Amino acid sequence: MFRVRQVICNVAVCCGGIIVPAVAGYASAGDTQQAGVPTPTTQPAPIVMTAEGWRIHRAGILIDGHNDLPWQVRKLADSSFDKLDIALPQEEVHTDIPRLRRGGVGGQFWAVYVPPETERIGTATTMALEQFDLIHRMVKRYPEVFELALTADDVVRIRREGKIASLIGVEGGHTIQNSLETLTLFHQRGARYLGLTHTENTDWADSATDEAEHIGLTSFGERVVLEMNRLGILVDIAHVSFDTMRDALRVSRAPVIASHSSAYAVAQHVRNVPDDVLRMIAGNGGVVMATFFPGYIHPVGAQNMSGYFETERTLRQRHPVKEEFDRAWKQWKAQHPIPKGTVHTVVDHIDHIVRIAGIDHVGLGSDYDGVGKLPLQLEDVSGYPFITQELVNRGYSERDIHKIMGGNLLRALREAERISRRWGK
Ligand SMILES: [Zn+2]
Repeated sequence: MFRVRQVICNVAVCCGGIIVPAVAGYASAGDTQQAGVPTPTTQPAPIVMTAEGWRIHRAGILIDGHNDLPWQVRKLADSSFDKLDIALPQEEVHTDIPRLRRGGVGGQFWAVYVPPETERIGTATTMALEQFDLIHRMVKRYPEVFELALTADDVVRIRREGKIASLIGVEGGHTIQNSLETLTLFHQRGARYLGLTHTENTDWADSATDEAEHIGLTSFGERVVLEMNRLGILVDIAHVSFDTMRDALRVSRAPVIASHSSAYAVAQHVRNVPDDVLRMIAGNGGVVMATFFPGYIHPVGAQNMSGYFETERTLRQRHPVKEEFDRAWKQWKAQHPIPKGTVHTVVDHIDHIVRIAGIDHVGLGSDYDGVGKLPLQLEDVSGYPFITQELVNRGYSERDIHKIMGGNLLRALREAERISRRWGK
């Protein structure tokens, strides 16, 4: 299992492909924390489920903002659910039906992800359409488990019928290859959010993990945002630069989401959302969906992850002989570990987002099957009840927990639908 997960990380969906620029002024978490920001717990006790925790978890609708199983099925199984039958336990991935059921998942945004470099060779849109088809095939193959959800009402109805509402989110604006018309096509295929970038800039938006080029959105980027508003596709600011986040929130007339992002004040990775943007999200009616990857959410992990690719590039230049590079790189990685963290690490981010943006603006976006490492007790999709339990333990009310689990996302989706309808098509 470890070997395969390592491969997953190397094939680089969300964490592995990142090119992280150097960010000046990193300090230890303790140095940078503001008054009132929780200190991430280093050695907490494992979460123990209670009857109350289970009851609250089952009564809510758990909607996860980002799962990369579709890309894993493409990479590991030639896009075949015969080869990777998720009705059976599949230890080489984080997601299968038995564990989705154990985790009480009510709705899932399945990611249409293709690598950013596909835009340069012109295959990004085609490959994205293939990933839409893969998700549609999955839903058809397991009809007693999944149903495609196109609206917030669909999610509620499908959940009531005991199935998992399957939403589609597109990861990265490179997939439209600078074509507004492609947004219409994606919407018709079921897309209900689109991330403006992945790990590289597009021609119209800066990524968090690339050199600043446009200082946010270009005028075409602003048109992309408005076209998404018109169609009813949520604007997703996961992976974009701080300036792109601010521009998207300035331009968008509908709620903006971060489908799998956490709080920069708690863990200083440039992929996370800074406090001023959290306040803008509150004003916009949007949702930041806390993600689980320790390289983004653990204060030490975020710091070590931030130097990861810059160092790799430097060492490659310094050691042209492969064996020498391998040795030096292995040594550096051993000196810069990414601690796994725990459920507490994730909930520390939720606490902070609640404190700055408010209880109505936080959700969950795991990034399962997009990352190579996960916190303890959140190793796969069966782990969500532990988050609910920890929220109970920290004194959140049932009503507030249900907002975090999925209620806030449903509200944002409904509002995007309302604005789209009012706009007219
Ligand atoms: Zn991602």
